[in-house]
Amino acid sequence: MSDFVLVLNAGSSSLKYSLVDAVTGHEAASGTVQQIGEPSGVLNHSAPSGEQRSERPFVNHADALQAVMDAFTDHGPSLADVTLRAVGHRVVHGGARFSVPVLIDDALVEAVQSLVPLAPLHNPANLEGIATARALFPDLPQVAVFDTAFHQTLPPHAYTYAVPLSLREEHQIRRYGFHGTSYSFVAAEAARVLGRPLSDLNLIVLHLGNGASATAIERGRSVDTSMGISPLEGLVMGTRSGDVDPALHAHLHRQLGWSIDDVDRVLNRESGLRGLSGYNDFRDVDRWRQFGDEGPMLAFDVFCYRIRKYVGAYYAVLGTVDAVVFTAGVGENAASMRAAALSGLERLGIAVDGERNDQRSDEPWLISPEGSEVAVLVVQTNEEWEIARQAMAVVGSAG
Ligand code: AMP
Repeated sequence: MSDFVLVLNAGSSSLKYSLVDAVTGHEAASGTVQQIGEPSGVLNHSAPSGEQRSERPFVNHADALQAVMDAFTDHGPSLADVTLRAVGHRVVHGGARFSVPVLIDDALVEAVQSLVPLAPLHNPANLEGIATARALFPDLPQVAVFDTAFHQTLPPHAYTYAVPLSLREEHQIRRYGFHGTSYSFVAAEAARVLGRPLSDLNLIVLHLGNGASATAIERGRSVDTSMGISPLEGLVMGTRSGDVDPALHAHLHRQLGWSIDDVDRVLNRESGLRGLSGYNDFRDVDRWRQFGDEGPMLAFDVFCYRIRKYVGAYYAVLGTVDAVVFTAGVGENAASMRAAALSGLERLGIAVDGERNDQRSDEPWLISPEGSEVAVLVVQTNEEWEIARQAMAVVGSAG
């Protein structure tokens, strides 16, 4: 009998869920509840019986999760028919405290609460999801899987910002990095595809989705990553600027009278591809740049150039590189971006074969030419399966 995990990802006004077989990765059902707390909300439930959409207000996360349970009862698969072993929660910020997934108890909740200053939007939402699920499934083990955990192997010279000691010690100001569950999954997949142990491999992994980041992985361990204390730093993203001069905040405040919240909002929600082109979806950017639209053309170039800069930097960090790996929505699908981002790196042994790059597959595939010094791969990420696997590893070892 399969071991199923209910994977929950609670946002401030949303709840994503997925019922996953932890061994095979088979997703028996999944869905989202959106606009929680607003006058009208929507639940999309996807199951073998089909796609169900229902609209009604959801007053809070508890109401939303109850509606999800009703969707399982009404449209299947029935939770009574599967062996549900755990609830796995995606928790965005684990600070410097959590480098592995943890069984949730009151002390863990308190610890995640204490990290709210580091993730003021995300961690309270994750806590809401945890509280709701604990109330609904009091007898089921619940596991927190942290997005930051994979990067706890960063050495001090990589995670330290050059700011005064009091900030670093008293306020935990440092680089943390995110997308950890994705990196953990994709690195293992890359090793499987290359037929070599992960502990032998140096990888540069590019997680390019709505959020985007790059990570240097040395012999299976993260040694540098482009996101910092928050997910704003690094690559250009759908609506986030990525790297800017930190003095920009003061400049905008002095010149335009913007508050810190204004700057925060603009750099997180109105910048990136959206700020450059008007579109936050890479498909739109790619389509309109091909028609010669200036904004989308610039957005494409800035996006690809920033990636190339990080690949060069992480090559220097690692010394030798076995593979460059593209993953997530943009990385897995945008062939034109992959070719542009890695162009001109032949002297580093990095090249993209046009024909291979233009292929599509549901399985990971190689896009570098035969005999290349550095393999270039496209690997489909699966954060839900990774959370399910990590949750089962905790539950298995606890049981
Ligand atoms: P993710 O955060 O990994 O779900 O990625 C979502 C993003 O992937 C979307 O906002 C799109 O910009 C991008 N995306 C999805 N499909 C495609 C595609 N076929 N071509 C280019 N970009 C895509």
